[in-house]
Amino acid sequence: MRQSQTLIPTLKETPADAEIKSHQLLVRAGFIRQTASGVYSFLPMGNKVLKNVEKIVREEMERAGAAEMLMPALQLSDLWKETGRWEKMGPELMRLHDRHDREFALGATHEEVVTSIVRDEVKSYKKLPLSVFQIQTKFRDEQRPRFGLLRGREFVMKDAYTFHTNEESLDEAYKKMYQAYQNIFTRCGLNFRAVIADSGAMGGKDTHEFMVLSDIGEDTIAFSDTSDFAANIEMAPVNVTYAKSDEAEAALAKVDTPGYKTMMEVSEFLGQPLDKGIKSLLFKVDERFVLVLSRGDHEINDIKLKNALDASSVELATEAEVQQLFHAEVGSIGPINVPDDIEIVADYAVEAITNGYAGANEDNTHYKNVNPDRDFKISSYQDLRFIMEGDPSPDGQGIIKFAKGIEVGHIFKLGKFYAEKLGAKYLNEQGKQETMIMGCYGIGVSRTLAAIVEQYHDENGIKWPQEITPYQVHLIAVNPKNEEQSKLAEEIYKELQKQNISVLFDDRKERPGVKFADSDLIGLPIRITVGKRAGEGYVEYKVRDNGEQDELHVSELVNKIN
Ligand code: ATP
Ligand code: MG
Ligand code: MG
Ligand code: MG
Repeated sequence: MRQSQTLIPTLKETPADAEIKSHQLLVRAGFIRQTASGVYSFLPMGNKVLKNVEKIVREEMERAGAAEMLMPALQLSDLWKETGRWEKMGPELMRLHDRHDREFALGATHEEVVTSIVRDEVKSYKKLPLSVFQIQTKFRDEQRPRFGLLRGREFVMKDAYTFHTNEESLDEAYKKMYQAYQNIFTRCGLNFRAVIADSGAMGGKDTHEFMVLSDIGEDTIAFSDTSDFAANIEMAPVNVTYAKSDEAEAALAKVDTPGYKTMMEVSEFLGQPLDKGIKSLLFKVDERFVLVLSRGDHEINDIKLKNALDASSVELATEAEVQQLFHAEVGSIGPINVPDDIEIVADYAVEAITNGYAGANEDNTHYKNVNPDRDFKISSYQDLRFIMEGDPSPDGQGIIKFAKGIEVGHIFKLGKFYAEKLGAKYLNEQGKQETMIMGCYGIGVSRTLAAIVEQYHDENGIKWPQEITPYQVHLIAVNPKNEEQSKLAEEIYKELQKQNISVLFDDRKERPGVKFADSDLIGLPIRITVGKRAGEGYVEYKVRDNGEQDELHVSELVNKIN
């Protein structure tokens, strides 16, 4: 590509609104431009690198057995209402009306759409498992769009979805995706870590986030200095539902008399299966009843609870309020410290809380299927809320350190939530209808691009890693008006192209200083400068990453690059 013929509007000055390096450099190097808060255009160079990240993602997804498809950004509100997320997503979901006044959302994610398609098209166990993905534009009206591509309101995501007849099949897909993510972020050249995550509003159980280690990351990771243990300590808020006394009494009546309840009973009360670690306690505080739930599935629980309590005015307390109320002890590892003035009315799962894990069996005995080592690690992650640097690691190996991370990927075992809500069923081998089990797997493609720049730059500009770079070689003719230089540069340009080495040719009539500064800013791995010694066939060869430079004869170039 001739630089004179493409659009690479570099800037000398750092844009005033750009706080972090990736934002500054991608704008200054002429890769992206903002058109509205959190909304960006990818200029030709930006588009190249974005496509290169997409290529890696696509190859690894296909290797993991997922088939690419493409779903619409424009989605009828009906599906979102069926899953309850039309309400739950709140202002983050972009909404609009068509000319017939029908409600739409701009897709923030695609569980609803993909599940409805599979519901309609897959009827038999013979068609399962199924694994699909797309690379597509997502819309989220983020409260604080910032940091350029890291937190946009319109951004590119890879989202994959798998459908299964049984848990083992889901486990297998999850492992494959986990491996695919390892491959993707390794190929992107990133320093990253897979961490145990909280399933938050997604209502899942097993879930991992892939975190790029970076000081500007918005997540805090607690990790062991000696083992593989790593978890995101940004946990789902503990939800407290305040119900009026009579409502609480009614709710209590439904679960029999106050007192010790097994997880099975709590599960029945809520009308849904509970995962290990679901915690619910009903307290009496100042004549009010306070129901405390802590666990990633709070979204589902809130809805069920509202129904169960039949409460018209149910309030949710903030996490801060909960911490104040319980002296920051709820959800912590170890015995729960309930203040004297708080009366426990029903300790449904108090054992679960005090032990950090729980399991229930058909015969209502606790802990039978619990392997403290395994389940401690898996189900106690939300308990890391209060963990401090220097604490012993929950897996008993090493001590906890903190690091900041950028969430570039997230994988979930969704279970049956969406399939149940949307009626995605299949006929099993016995001809009986069963609900599908799902997994979902996201990668912020445009965010990954920014994360790469966060890790690959110096004071002069970007240093693109091999698989991402828009072009391998930046070819510069110092003075294109000089015939020898221009002739040699043209020859090299043609030869590199013939050899399938991608090259950006700076043939602009700019001062050398400008060209070199732009070249460092743009950050291609290799720079070939055709200058004074062009007549003898000598050029300068410079490696962007380590600054190494060499005088080479043109005849040596192709070998050197390969
Ligand atoms: P965050 O915690 O940063 O808000 P999220 O947990 O809401 O992200 P997911 O729903 O897990 O995001 O979406 C999958 C992936 O999409 C994330 O891991 C992230 O890489 C990317 N992503 C999410 N929100 C944004 C955004 N506003 N801009 C760019 N990428 C995003
Ligand atoms: Mg988010
Ligand atoms: Mg997140
Ligand atoms: Mg996430």
